[in-house]
Amino acid sequence: MKACAHSSPSSLVRLCENCELPVDRVKLLPGQTANCPRCGTTLYRSDNASLNGNLALAITCLLLFVPSHYFDFITIRLVGVMIEGTLIEGIRALIKEGYPGLAVLTLFCHTIAPLAMCIAILTAHLSVKRRWFYPLKGSLWILEHSKHWVMLDVFLISVAISCFKLQDYSDIFVGNALYSLVILQVITILLISRVSTRRYWELWRPENSLSITDKHIHCHSCHLSQQEAAQCIRCESPLHHRKPNSMQKTWALLIAATIAIFPANLIPISILITNGQLLEDTIFSGVASLINNDMLGIAIIIFVASIVVPVAKILGLAYLLICIQFNMVRNHRHALMIYRAIKWIGKWSMTDLFVISIMLTLVDRGQILNFTPGFGAVAFGIVVVLTMLAAESIDPRLLWDKHASLQQTESAKPVSSSINE
Ligand SMILES: [Zn+2]
Ligand SMILES: [Zn+2]
Repeated sequence: MKACAHSSPSSLVRLCENCELPVDRVKLLPGQTANCPRCGTTLYRSDNASLNGNLALAITCLLLFVPSHYFDFITIRLVGVMIEGTLIEGIRALIKEGYPGLAVLTLFCHTIAPLAMCIAILTAHLSVKRRWFYPLKGSLWILEHSKHWVMLDVFLISVAISCFKLQDYSDIFVGNALYSLVILQVITILLISRVSTRRYWELWRPENSLSITDKHIHCHSCHLSQQEAAQCIRCESPLHHRKPNSMQKTWALLIAATIAIFPANLIPISILITNGQLLEDTIFSGVASLINNDMLGIAIIIFVASIVVPVAKILGLAYLLICIQFNMVRNHRHALMIYRAIKWIGKWSMTDLFVISIMLTLVDRGQILNFTPGFGAVAFGIVVVLTMLAAESIDPRLLWDKHASLQQTESAKPVSSSINE
């Protein structure tokens, strides 16, 4: 459905956060979203998701954290011995093997980030009710930034992969925590799709209660378009047309990731000792041995998640940076699609690291079968973190710089957003 263009008072205009185009606010029916007509970014949704509903979902998630972390998610019977795997046991095993960095990274992605997101929803509600400014600002900052690091879905896929890898050696039983994790994952997806930091800020101080004369700059913290200023009139965050030093930061992170990708692929990431035989596997030889063991499906998943995704991210980001630097962006929408894809696929690289932590929980018991991570896993963890940070530090508005200057001379008046159902 397309909304027809009409002139609006400036209070109804909003700048697109990804391309800075001034766009008319239109009234939406339930279930609709308004998208930027130039770059396709979702600007806002029909505000029908109740905030109390978000609160209920967040509390449910917090309650589910208890069984999902306390009980075992999987139990295997290895040479007659039952071994239970819990999330926390995996972290403990990584620390014991001398990999505290990997332990922190996996704990952050499957526990701390989702936990922080749920607690931030609770404190945001409380802060709005009690009129606490800084707790609200802090909660919404955590909410906005923790979303990308919630990787329960990746963890669940990793559990499935580990089960396939272990099926030849042992009997596998599903534990109670796995059911809790699946429900937790479903509710987390629901929560991420419903929660909007702009709505909390609207409750704090609605846009129409503020005297805004022109809209030239967009606040990325509270999503308020406003007149030029050093800081936002609502949330007091610094305002920038472009993220400061975005290009330099992204280049630096990208170069570091490119260097780290070599040891990540050349040094073994896992070492399996079976019947006194030492089997060292790099990412690639791991994929090859999966193919040899007739596990083509898993081989493809690991190949894509651990080799294709990191390389594609580095090449994609380098392409975007070169396009911006040399003013070579031809198809702006296409470039923004690459940017979005890079942000979305990033977390799937964590698959192999989660598999390592699960295997370590279940197999490293000094029995016939022994498992330990290799230093390649550390380098690989560094690649995952650096590429994710690089994707977050690039400012997508830079892609539209040349386009925007043409647009302004043509017409600076707001256009209606297109509506998707
Ligand atoms: Zn846009
Ligand atoms: Zn703001």
